Amino acid sequence: MALSITAAIESPERFAAVPGQGLSGEPRLRQPGMTGPEEGCSMTLRLSKFGQRFAARSGILELMADLGQAMGAGNDVCMLGGGNPAPVPGVQEALRRRMAEILADGDQFDRMIGNYDPPQGNVAFIDAIVQLLRGELGWEIGPENVAVTNGSQSAFFLLFNLLAGEFADGSRRRILLPIVPEYIGYADLGLADDLFTARKPDIRMLDENTFKYRIDFDNLAVGDDVAAICVSRPTNPSGNVLADDEVRRLADLAAARGIPLICDNAYGAPFPRIVFVDIQPIWNESIIFSMSLSKFGLPGTRTGVIVATPEVVQSLAHCNAIVSLASGGVGAAMLRSLLTSGEALRISREVIRPFYQQRAERALGWVHEHMRGRVAYRVHKCEGSMFLWLWFPELTITTYELYERLKARRVLVVPGTYFFPGLREPWEHGDQCLRINYAHDPRAVEKGIRIIAEEVRRAG
Ligand code: PLP
Repeated sequence: MALSITAAIESPERFAAVPGQGLSGEPRLRQPGMTGPEEGCSMTLRLSKFGQRFAARSGILELMADLGQAMGAGNDVCMLGGGNPAPVPGVQEALRRRMAEILADGDQFDRMIGNYDPPQGNVAFIDAIVQLLRGELGWEIGPENVAVTNGSQSAFFLLFNLLAGEFADGSRRRILLPIVPEYIGYADLGLADDLFTARKPDIRMLDENTFKYRIDFDNLAVGDDVAAICVSRPTNPSGNVLADDEVRRLADLAAARGIPLICDNAYGAPFPRIVFVDIQPIWNESIIFSMSLSKFGLPGTRTGVIVATPEVVQSLAHCNAIVSLASGGVGAAMLRSLLTSGEALRISREVIRPFYQQRAERALGWVHEHMRGRVAYRVHKCEGSMFLWLWFPELTITTYELYERLKARRVLVVPGTYFFPGLREPWEHGDQCLRINYAHDPRAVEKGIRIIAEEVRRAG
């Protein structure tokens, strides 16, 4: 098992069994990717270049091991660091009901666990996705436009490396992130060095304490070395939702260059709809649209969905066959009938979105209550996703140091510096921001926010 930054940040519970120096001070257990002989073992694991890139330890991995360790460190830890979706009551019930239905119908169960699906994905599930997107959004797509992957994360790994990196003629092409901060999970996906190039956002103050990022189109030259443009919408970590006109402009830019715009819709519409503003998801032949079942409540099934041209879909299917044979079929079997009955959309609108919106508003209320008049703070307008993105413009320490101080007080957050992949110029903004997950135990969220305010004030 290679330990990626993403896995560590977004699923820190995977590290729960790994004792470390962090919170309790026990020695760390060996982790995959560590080189050098094990105690009592004479073999030295020699890692290839690939191995060094994907399995070696990194600073952030150490940091994230702390997060994972916190998951097992008792319930006085305020865990605001991970990217796990919250268990949403109405969703859990629907999913349990659906699983009971599958179990009761022996045939469905046998097919779910007993068959490899085709490398492009489960045929009936693809059909359900096509019907949903045609009916709900009017997209003119067929089954040839849809591929199922083992989580959207693995789709990004394949897509980025299919499109960018080193080419046979010796040239190099990159993925352009037209606005950062952006999803940390992209950062380490490249098989080649230097896979990303990124642009700073335009920052607008909406009121004294609220800001919003917008794409700085005036400084968005798309060079010949750009293989694709990629955005997450809603954005992890900022909670930003690019406006429809921004997405259209990006799509036009991409089309004019003959390259794709990759639109990561892990939190977006039509499901799971953790988006609090009105948006119109768009697709055309220049867009690679990515969806995930994870934030609907099924991160454990590892199911991602890509909507793209048949050429992209076939390329993904071919890669999938080599890397995985097939994608797992459990998520597809669970969601298929919820999609065809309209239940998945109803749940997204009536259960998931209000659940997260209410939690976001409460957390935002606590930010203002504990920080206003006490510290210089700003918070990104939370338009979607499960995160609040805080900015302390006058902080005299970095948010990495703040993270360390917070950890000592058993509050776990993710410092901002990790969310700027591909940005070459130094930018202090990254060291002044941090991400918190607002979606879990409200008492822990409030306590965590109060302690963050105290530590920012103490740091001056
Ligand atoms: N994209 C974004 C913006 C995410 O936040 C995540 C996970 O947190 C992913 C993609 C990957 O999700 P999954 O591989 O579970 O589909």
